[in-house]
Amino acid sequence: MSANNKILLAHGGGGRLTDELIRNVILSTLGNYSLNKLTDSAEIKIGQTNICFTTDSFVVKPLFFNGGDIGKLAVCGTINDLAVSGSKPLVLSLSLILEEGLEIEVLRKVLHSAARAVKEENIEIVCGDTKVVEAGSADKLFINTSGIGLKLLKADIGFERITAGDKIIVSGTIGDHGMTIMSHREGMKFESEMKSDCGSVAQICGKVIEALGDDIKFMRDPTRGGLAATLNEIVNQIELGIEIQESQIPVNPTVRAAADMLGFDILEIANEGKVVIVVSQQKAQKCLEICRSCENGKDAAIIGEVSKSGEPLVELETKIKGRRIVQMPYGRELPRIC
Ligand code: MG
Repeated sequence: MSANNKILLAHGGGGRLTDELIRNVILSTLGNYSLNKLTDSAEIKIGQTNICFTTDSFVVKPLFFNGGDIGKLAVCGTINDLAVSGSKPLVLSLSLILEEGLEIEVLRKVLHSAARAVKEENIEIVCGDTKVVEAGSADKLFINTSGIGLKLLKADIGFERITAGDKIIVSGTIGDHGMTIMSHREGMKFESEMKSDCGSVAQICGKVIEALGDDIKFMRDPTRGGLAATLNEIVNQIELGIEIQESQIPVNPTVRAAADMLGFDILEIANEGKVVIVVSQQKAQKCLEICRSCENGKDAAIIGEVSKSGEPLVELETKIKGRRIVQMPYGRELPRIC
């Protein structure tokens, strides 16, 4: 834990410090079979039906950014956690924590955006809550969403299903969300050229499961901590390594330039509309084609594979054929990114 035993902003960064906080403070107190698995949603059996259940809070700053806002983010973030768990999103809850003094027009705008996002997915927000705190006790507007999804019958995904030789696919360019937010905050010139990928991956996830069933071994949305965190979370669970090729990872050139300028590793930057898919070697090409047939999967790529070595490390082959270990990010990179 941190030296002064207080919560740091980095505890919310989705990296090593978040992981330590979850394990040492939260799971040690509340942990149980389901929670300890640290999956994107809990799977619950009710009669003959399996449902997925998840929750997420949103504190992004600023509230509005190119490509989305906190309302769209709150809906899509929860939809994505349900979708990557192999379920079809059914219903959401939405709870608001509002700061005294917030313009009602701002709230309206955010809610309209949330409404559009649920409509696109053909689902509904069916319950919610509203709380107001004194000016200064929160920053304008925080949102919590929870969601329930119906587990797809063909889905059989989990860390334990991943084996050596499986391919790693990412559904599009990485780093767009994080760098858009960051350049917005920094007031960078090329801010307008970047757009958050904030959006749903439910179509991609649903289609690959429907077509390929249990050849889809695992899926996760690489949000806070980016691709680096997601791949490290995988290797930590499977006790096998992952090798990725830098030349195969899709990155928007402006996003790359912004990351370089601000000194960020693009692999550690948050995404809000991407999915990492671990698929059997035999069906990898088919999976890639399905991703590319989806509106937000056009830039999908096979970026590497699960290696045969027993070392649970993520290794990157650089463009000039060098090698480096991709570490779990520490977490202080980008506070309040989602
Ligand atoms: Mg997730």
